[in-house]
Amino acid sequence: MVDSVYRTRSLGVAAVGLPDQYADGKAAKVWQLYIGDTQSRTDEYRNAVVQLLRQHKCQRILDVACGTGVDSIMLLEEGFTLVSSDASDKMLKYALKERWNRRKEAAFDNWVIEEANWLTLPLDIPKPGDGFDAVICLGNSFAHLPDLKGDQSDQKLALSNIASMVKPGGILIIDHRNYDAILETGQAPKGKNIYYKSDLTRDISTSVLYVNNKPHMVTLDYTVHIPNKEQEKQVDVSTFRLSYYPHRVDAFTKLLKDAFHGKCQHTLYGDFKPHPTEQGNVPCYFIHVVKKIG
Ligand code: SAH
Repeated sequence: MVDSVYRTRSLGVAAVGLPDQYADGKAAKVWQLYIGDTQSRTDEYRNAVVQLLRQHKCQRILDVACGTGVDSIMLLEEGFTLVSSDASDKMLKYALKERWNRRKEAAFDNWVIEEANWLTLPLDIPKPGDGFDAVICLGNSFAHLPDLKGDQSDQKLALSNIASMVKPGGILIIDHRNYDAILETGQAPKGKNIYYKSDLTRDISTSVLYVNNKPHMVTLDYTVHIPNKEQEKQVDVSTFRLSYYPHRVDAFTKLLKDAFHGKCQHTLYGDFKPHPTEQGNVPCYFIHVVKKIG
């Protein structure tokens, strides 16, 4: 059943046998437009991530889902040192291009970019000493990892690998969409998206796939309007589809704590604000900050 969902698009298969949803290059191209004309996050987002990293005295950062490089570039500009990785070469292409274009800036000249899958992370990325000051996995990336075996073992392995790259005293920042709300209402929350500056998105239609009465996969079809460069008044309509594992916030918190063998402090934010599960709050994204206790 899961297979048939994936077969609806011509997808490449990453080395470890999982589908790379960005392999045909189309999603990567539209993604670059979706995240904004300026290719940057909102100021709110930038301030929140930078503040968290500074508060925890982090300098050396590993971005394990860098995609086209949006978070890494933002952090390089803020003076952090970055190792950035992603499983999709089609996405990395954009990050590599930016590094080349800005190679005269020392931070970009020193920027390390690697192809790496979470399932083989310790083999793909050399760990500096006892680990990175911070590991980030943002932009609803982790939910891309499906549960093909039906026991979440891939997700557990991936989280354990990601946690192993954090040094004692360091932090992991990882997020996901508010799937609790998506599963309850059948729609992504309509609140202000503090992640992306783009106003090109016209519609996100949502469908939920159930297996054995359990929500197994959420599919979001994005419709993006792109201004036509040649004819000013015209817009091109582009669509792309991404499938996600719908992590519920409590279950995901448990997975995270297990990945750190319980030796951690966990803080939850909703759209980077505290107390996200209080009544009346329906954030678009949950952000988990996990501090590894040495
Ligand atoms: N953080 C970026 C990218 C988000 S898209 C942003 O916010 O724009 C999600 C990224 O996760 C994609 O680039 C995809 O290739 C990557 N990804 C999905 N599964 C992965 C895996 N198993 N290992 C490493 N990267 C993966």
